[in-house]
Amino acid sequence: MLQDKDRIFTNLYGVHSPGLEEAKKRGAWHLTREMLQQTPEWICDQIKASGLRGRGGAGFPTGLKWTFMPKEVRDRPHYLVVNADESEPGTCKDREIMRHDPHLLIEGCMIASYAMRAHACYVYLRGEYIAEREALEKAVREAYEAGLIGKNNKNGWDFDLYVHHGAGAYICGEETALLESLEGKKGQPRLKPPFPANAGLYGCPTTVNNVESIAVAPTILRRGAEWFAGFGRPNNTGTKLFCISGHVNKPCNVEEEMSITFKDLIDTHCGGIRGGWDNLKAVIPGGSSVPMVPAEQIMDAYMDFDTLRDLKSGLGTAAVIVMDKSTDLIKAIARISYFYKHESCGQCTPCREGTGWMWRVLERMAKGEAEHNEIDMLLDVSTQIEGHTICALGDAAAWPVQGLIRHFRHEIEDRITQYRAPRALVQGAVVA
Ligand code: SF4
Repeated sequence: MLQDKDRIFTNLYGVHSPGLEEAKKRGAWHLTREMLQQTPEWICDQIKASGLRGRGGAGFPTGLKWTFMPKEVRDRPHYLVVNADESEPGTCKDREIMRHDPHLLIEGCMIASYAMRAHACYVYLRGEYIAEREALEKAVREAYEAGLIGKNNKNGWDFDLYVHHGAGAYICGEETALLESLEGKKGQPRLKPPFPANAGLYGCPTTVNNVESIAVAPTILRRGAEWFAGFGRPNNTGTKLFCISGHVNKPCNVEEEMSITFKDLIDTHCGGIRGGWDNLKAVIPGGSSVPMVPAEQIMDAYMDFDTLRDLKSGLGTAAVIVMDKSTDLIKAIARISYFYKHESCGQCTPCREGTGWMWRVLERMAKGEAEHNEIDMLLDVSTQIEGHTICALGDAAAWPVQGLIRHFRHEIEDRITQYRAPRALVQGAVVA
């Protein structure tokens, strides 16, 4: 369990001012110049040694990702792009960083940019994040005025930071759609390769990182890679922001040690499950894109990348959506399916047509108005979407449906049987 002294985000709940002077008292901008006097390779090595894995959902090792950028700046500038398009249902952690601890993010942007030899960074914000944009812009102004960033700044690395406000499309959280949108085009994912480290923003070497991944970097370097790696389990290290919503007594955002068990996380920070632990039915542990896990499997599970992958789910963004026994799971997944249908950019046929098809079938299943053989047909369609699209939205739409059928097929069957029973009786009476 994480102690207060080990929390990176010491103003997560906005108890203190997010302003520069208060942020400095909490440790931000301390030793930044010294860090930037190290080599870029040293910074990448430290981040690698800390075991930090991307906090935006994919869990790719952050330090390794930084090393994919060219080692020298030749004919094209390098860019860092921070993905602050936090739109995954259930996820609201980056929001708190930008509102209450924006200087950690700005400092992280500068250090990561230096590690990748970039002099410019763009933070791409979700369209709905008005207050967050204002808070971040205010902090950026403070950093410029204090000479911490900009040309010839006190920290010794010329660095400019631009805040770009998106227009509210979920797909712009996909890194290449985000780059398209940043370039002023329609937000549609690009085919890969080429990968952004080779041809990203304006065709230049670019790395796209999540807000939390970047904001933890300065503290890792200040306190040491071993300190960060000391939390959690091998390959699943560090501290992590969890966003816990749904049927718990006290939903909250909290920074905890990676690999805490689900039960400890909920008992310690959320006051337990609404109606007691016997009332727990299922959990979506990483935002709406990952499959649900039934109560008996999640209870003692470690909340980390590897454990949840082994449970055929995922840590994702660590948006933990808790559902008790009052939940109509078929309706819940039908609603999630509608979200993906609505947010599909329409480029690939399996995604454009399949998401709508799954949603319509699930809507009928939620009422029981389906045939039993449609359950396998739905599963089959979901596997036809999975892995057959340009971006991961297709997978994200397919996995929740697969999770429902894998664990709660009996609920769909019962619903159909119950719906058909009275009809069969009426038809039998007519025939008799
Ligand atoms: Fe667009 Fe869906 Fe294809 Fe992604 S998978 S590119 S969202 S149509």
